[in-house]
Amino acid sequence: TEQTLVLVKPDGVRRNLIGEVIARIERKGYSIVDLKFVQPNESLLREHYEEHVDKPFFPSLLEFMMSGPMVAIRVEGDRVVEGFRSLAGETNPTTAAPGTIRGDLGRDWGTAAIENVVHGSDSTLSAERELAIWFK
Ligand code: ATP
Repeated sequence: TEQTLVLVKPDGVRRNLIGEVIARIERKGYSIVDLKFVQPNESLLREHYEEHVDKPFFPSLLEFMMSGPMVAIRVEGDRVVEGFRSLAGETNPTTAAPGTIRGDLGRDWGTAAIENVVHGSDSTLSAERELAIWFK
């Protein structure tokens, strides 16, 4: 069994989708083992998105991710890292497959940062690193 970090991003919280995201995680058979509301500061987000800090979209990503509270969730299950990525769907909500969180609930709002409801760690290594950042 393994663990992953799921974030309900500020757009998901604003749109009252916390329960919907949690329901999909639980219906799939994964367990929520820790959960909290967080209002991250810039240094936490720079740590979290260390691979993106030099990208052109980083300033808008930072602004979006600081635009309101988020929910951080520690999720456990067999192959849950890959499994949650599959539940979430691809990054862009316009092209994410129907049936996925981003495909069903997200759309392109035309904002500078892609607002796509959730984050999920992309590997077991990232999951360990990110869980240590968000659940200190
Ligand atoms: P996440 O890491 O949030 O699960 P992801 O792995 O699908 O998403 P990444 O490529 O790691 O996508 O990008 C991280 C986040 O940065 C995306 O979820 C999105 O919110 C934002 N983002 C990524 N690419 C762009 C882009 N080209 N323009 C604007 N925002 C972007």
